[in-house]
Amino acid sequence: MKKVCVITGGSSGIGLSIVKLFVEHNYQVFNLDLSPCAIGEFRQCDVTNVEQVSEIIANIAQQHTIDVLISNAGIHFSATIENTSEAELDNVFNINVKGAYAAIKAVLPSMKANKNGAIILMSSDQALVAKHNSFAYNLSKSALASIAKTTALDYAAFNIRANAVCPGTIETPLYHQAIDNYCQKSGADKNAVHEEEAKLQPLQRLGQPEEVAELVLFLASDNAKFITGSLQVIDGGYTAQ
Ligand code: NAP
Repeated sequence: MKKVCVITGGSSGIGLSIVKLFVEHNYQVFNLDLSPCAIGEFRQCDVTNVEQVSEIIANIAQQHTIDVLISNAGIHFSATIENTSEAELDNVFNINVKGAYAAIKAVLPSMKANKNGAIILMSSDQALVAKHNSFAYNLSKSALASIAKTTALDYAAFNIRANAVCPGTIETPLYHQAIDNYCQKSGADKNAVHEEEAKLQPLQRLGQPEEVAELVLFLASDNAKFITGSLQVIDGGYTAQ
């Protein structure tokens, strides 16, 4: 029987690479995202809507045993604390943190009943180090690292593991959007900024979404059955500096 994986934000970037890899590895994948996706089983969903997330996941759980949850949907937002309005803070928090809360809460009854489950939260290297001009995003990614730890402790007795993946700079549409916004504001040249970004990484290049997907596949598998409550860095050495 196929293992079942629920992912949020699987229609683009890192999430899409995860969906492709999990399908290749014979998982049945349910992708909760705003935008449709041809791979996996798409469920239109806004993760900020806790009731909607809960209903969609309860429906899946009625027909399947959910083995894996990957809470991945997220947005980036660049600003200092002074330049972050209350509405902008709420928006980042609602998508990045409340979305994870909604998805985890919704899969737990099924995972508890089966005494089995792997939960993976897409955090960031920014849970470990701060970056300039990134108040709300840093805050949200640190919160996800905390959720991984508390969930790991509270549900270890049910054989449910929870881990956070902390990618460095990964070349995805989100990354390109962030660079485009910066270049528009500053007038900087995109190619030059892109090269500078690569040079900031000890491995002298950006990460690729497929590389993050491989780590997530490992964490979801039985090969990682003693790993829980951890923050798994995949950042080309950035946070080692
Ligand atoms: P991406 O290409 O923008 O993909 C994010 C996906 O999440 C998109 O499909 C997006 O849908 C979806 N999404 C956004 N808001 C949603 C909502 N309210 N409900 C449901 N789905 C929603 O970004 P990515 O770079 O792959 O990032 C994926 C995750 O990795 C994020 O949590 C991000 O913070 C984290 N991360 C990324 C990097 C990086 O350098 N790229 C580094 C560290 C961590 P739409 O396209 O329709 O909006």
